[in-house]
Amino acid sequence: MKLRVVVLGAGFGGLELCSILSETIGDQLDLTIIDQNDTFYFGFSKLDVMFGHKTPDAVKIPYSSIKKQGVRFCKDTITAIDPVTRTVTTQAGSYEADVLVVALGADYDISATPGLVEHGNEYYSFQGAEKLREVIPGFTKGHAIVGVCGAPFKCPPAPSEAALMLHDHLSGAGIRDACTISLVMPFGSPIPPSPDSSKALLKAFEERDIRFIPQHKIASLREGTAILDDGTEMPFDLFLGIPKHVTPDVVLQSGLTENGWVPVDRASLSTKFPNVYAIGDVTSVGTPKAGVFAEGAAKTAAAAIIAAYKGKENGLPYAGAGSCYIEFGKGEVARVDVDFFSGPKPFGIHHGASEALAVDKEYFGSSRKARWFGL
Ligand SMILES: Cc1cc2nc3c(=O)[nH]c(=O)nc-3n(C[C@H](O)[C@H](O)[C@H](O)COP(=O)(O)OP(=O)(O)OC[C@H]3O[C@@H](n4cnc5c(N)ncnc54)[C@H](O)[C@@H]3O)c2cc1C
Repeated sequence: MKLRVVVLGAGFGGLELCSILSETIGDQLDLTIIDQNDTFYFGFSKLDVMFGHKTPDAVKIPYSSIKKQGVRFCKDTITAIDPVTRTVTTQAGSYEADVLVVALGADYDISATPGLVEHGNEYYSFQGAEKLREVIPGFTKGHAIVGVCGAPFKCPPAPSEAALMLHDHLSGAGIRDACTISLVMPFGSPIPPSPDSSKALLKAFEERDIRFIPQHKIASLREGTAILDDGTEMPFDLFLGIPKHVTPDVVLQSGLTENGWVPVDRASLSTKFPNVYAIGDVTSVGTPKAGVFAEGAAKTAAAAIIAAYKGKENGLPYAGAGSCYIEFGKGEVARVDVDFFSGPKPFGIHHGASEALAVDKEYFGSSRKARWFGL
C-alpha cells in the first residue's frame, strides 16, 4: 500500500519535506502538496524586490517545475482541516490522508495595527514589497521608520537588514544627508541569542547614523506619525512596517492551535492528533520563524514519518539549530549560527560581514532551488 501524504503549504518546510519523502520512499509514496500560489519565492527576496535590486518576476519560482517521484503539486486554497479524520477541504475539492503535514506558515494581521493600512507600508508580504519599490524612490528627504508591530515575527534580522539597505539606497541616491532612519524593535538588542551579531549590527547602525529604539513596538499610526507602545509619538515621512503575525485562519479553525500557534512534540513534530504533523512558522516549537528552521523541522518530521511507515524507531529529534544570513549593505553579508536547544539557553556564533558570505547566501538560495525544483 502506498503512503498517502497530504502536505498543506509549499513553503520552506513543505518543499523540504516533499524532497526527503520522495528521495526515501518515492515508489511507495502518494504525496499531494497544496498551495494557494503558483510560484515560490524566498522570504529574503522581498528585500531585493522592495529596493529594486531584482524584479518580482526574477525571484518567483514556478511550482510547475516540481518533478519528484510520488509527488503531485496542486494549486488550491485550503478552506478547512479536520485533524481527526485527516481530511482537508479546498476551494476545488477535498483530500484524505494517512499522514497530514501542516506547513502553512504565518499570516499577517495588518489591520491589528490601527492606521498601518491607511498611513504606512509593510514589506513582509510580497504585495507589500512590490508596492514599496514604487514608494521608496519617492522618499527623498525626512524621517524613515522601520517599525515592528508585534512579536513573534519572521526572520528577526530582517528589520535590521531593511534599515541598513535603506541607508545604502539613500547613500547611492546622494540624499542620505537629507534623511534620518530609525529602527523600532521589541527586543533589547537586534539579535538576542547572539550578543556578537547584535554588537556588529549596533556598530553598523552607529557608523551609519541609524537610530536603534529597542524594547518598543509600533502600537498605531496616524497620518505622518507613528505611536509607540508607551505613547511616544514619532513623526515620519516613510514607514516600513513589520506587521503583527498570526496563524492562518484555517489552522485556527481546525482545533490544532493553543495560544495562537500549533504545539508540537520536538522529537517528531507531531501534533496531539495521530499522524498529523506541523512544521515551520505555524508552530510554537521554540525556534524563530525562519526558513532555515522550517527546513530543520521538515527533516525531523520526515524522519518520523519514514520511521513510522517502516515500523522503526524515531531517529532524528529536532535540533533547533540553523544559520541565518544578515544583509549589511555594500554587498556584504554576515552569518549567525544559532542553536536554541542544545545548551541551557539559546546562543549564536557570529561570522562578520563579507563579500564571501554574500556568495554563501547566493548558494543557500540556489542549492534549495536546485533541490526542490530541479532548476
Ligand atoms: C523580509 C523577509 C526576509 C526573510 N529572510 C529570511 C532569511 O534570510 N532566512 C530565512 O531562513 N528565513 C527568512 N525569512 C523567513 C522565511 O521566509 C519564513 O520563515 C519561511 O518561509 C517559513 O517557512 P514555512 O514553510 O513555515 O512557511 P512559508 O514558507 O510561509 O509557506 C507557507 C505556504 O502556505 C501557503 N498557504 C497559506 N495559507 C494557505 C491556504 N489557506 N491554502 C493554500 N496555501 C496556503 C502559502 O502560500 C505559503 O506558500 C524572511 C522573511 C521575510 C518576510
